[in-house]
Amino acid sequence: MIIDRKLLEEFAAAAVLNTSDIEVFNIGRTIIEGRNTKYFDIIEELNEAFNTLGTKTSVLPPEELEKILSTAVEWQNTPQKKKNAIEKAGDPDKVKPDKFGILVHGSQARKVMIILPAGDPSEDDDSEAGTFDLKKFADLIKVRPTKLLSQNEKMKKSNKDNEDKVFFNTSIPALMGLTVDEDTGDFRVVTTCANAGICKIDCYARAHGYLMFSDATMKQHRMLNYIFNDAEGYESEMIKEITKKANRFAKKQFKIQDSDTGEIVMGHKTVQIRWNDAGDILSNEYLRLVKRIIDATPNVEHYLYSKEVAMHKIDKNKPTNLTTRYSFGGKQDSVINPKKDLHAQIVDADSDSRFADFKEIKKNGYITQPVGKGWQYEDADAVKKIIANHYDIDAKDIFTVAEISKKPVKKLEDDEVAPYNAIILPGESDKPATRKDVLGIYLIKH
Ligand code: SF4
Repeated sequence: MIIDRKLLEEFAAAAVLNTSDIEVFNIGRTIIEGRNTKYFDIIEELNEAFNTLGTKTSVLPPEELEKILSTAVEWQNTPQKKKNAIEKAGDPDKVKPDKFGILVHGSQARKVMIILPAGDPSEDDDSEAGTFDLKKFADLIKVRPTKLLSQNEKMKKSNKDNEDKVFFNTSIPALMGLTVDEDTGDFRVVTTCANAGICKIDCYARAHGYLMFSDATMKQHRMLNYIFNDAEGYESEMIKEITKKANRFAKKQFKIQDSDTGEIVMGHKTVQIRWNDAGDILSNEYLRLVKRIIDATPNVEHYLYSKEVAMHKIDKNKPTNLTTRYSFGGKQDSVINPKKDLHAQIVDADSDSRFADFKEIKKNGYITQPVGKGWQYEDADAVKKIIANHYDIDAKDIFTVAEISKKPVKKLEDDEVAPYNAIILPGESDKPATRKDVLGIYLIKH
């Protein structure tokens, strides 16, 4: 490979003169990475100095963090009806969490609130939130999670009877995360979905169950903080935890549906890890860390959805036990080739969907959700037809989750295009997304 000498020299000069410039660092590293040059030393030094895994980060001033914590407390105190009205009106003067900012649950903020002594004049102030013990908050974030793997609701539903896989996931904050530089004590904001596009407007990982539980959001910040401050420790703990799960499931036998024949037999469930159900792949360096973990757990299958399309496309050393799926809705959609690359699309069937044809799915009752039950098809063929027309694919190559699970996994030759497509209804198993023979995943959103 030819090294661009001019850029290399520019980088070396910049690295000395401008060590605080993360952009220069990233450009320089992109040029040098993977090549045996004397500038590796500079990279090492700068890695140490920035302690950022090559990701965009910035210091969060204490007064900004105070504001975030204060908003979190006020928002938690706001009745749901009022919250809805504030969100609908979009009034910039009303206090509400930044839709695209750092998420802190009100309960976590309360834990570090400084309660003013009775009689303090500032008690006259109506707002309950005000001052916070930021050191205590840093200590909350610095706690290392006891379990690195989780099972979100979708994962739990994927672990149904007869599944030959048992699903677990890793999770970091979606869009923006908070870490503490454990050397300096500074809070740092981390961009965790650098290529998020339209997806961030309605990000599933910043709503519903992910935010209802204060522990879940704090665990995500802690995971990110662990990775940033002790990547080696994180790597070895993650390998240990995954290996332990694999060993546990290797000992047990279950009734499972055989992937090759579709028959129900007694056998072992394979552990399936979904990387970052929230948050994307942070950087090349983080991707290498993830791949080392995947390589170290060869009996486990791994998969991820990602909007870091270019990063994965130039990565030539993908572990065979990893399935990478590009998801539309990001800044690099144009780099995805839906006729060739494994991908995922959101099919918004709700009444405010941007697409009239998708609205028909729910409006016409092609899918329904009977009271107390999950979503189900009333007319699967009609749904397939709409998706086929919209995305210019053949309806006969589209399958429901139930149909695709009866199809043996097709072993593909090099460069052979995956032949199938699958529709996943809300709450259905994510298993089709783990298959390399499924080209497109169509996730119905309601
Ligand atoms: S990339 Fe995924 S997690 Fe990140 S903002 Fe978009 S939808 Fe949310």
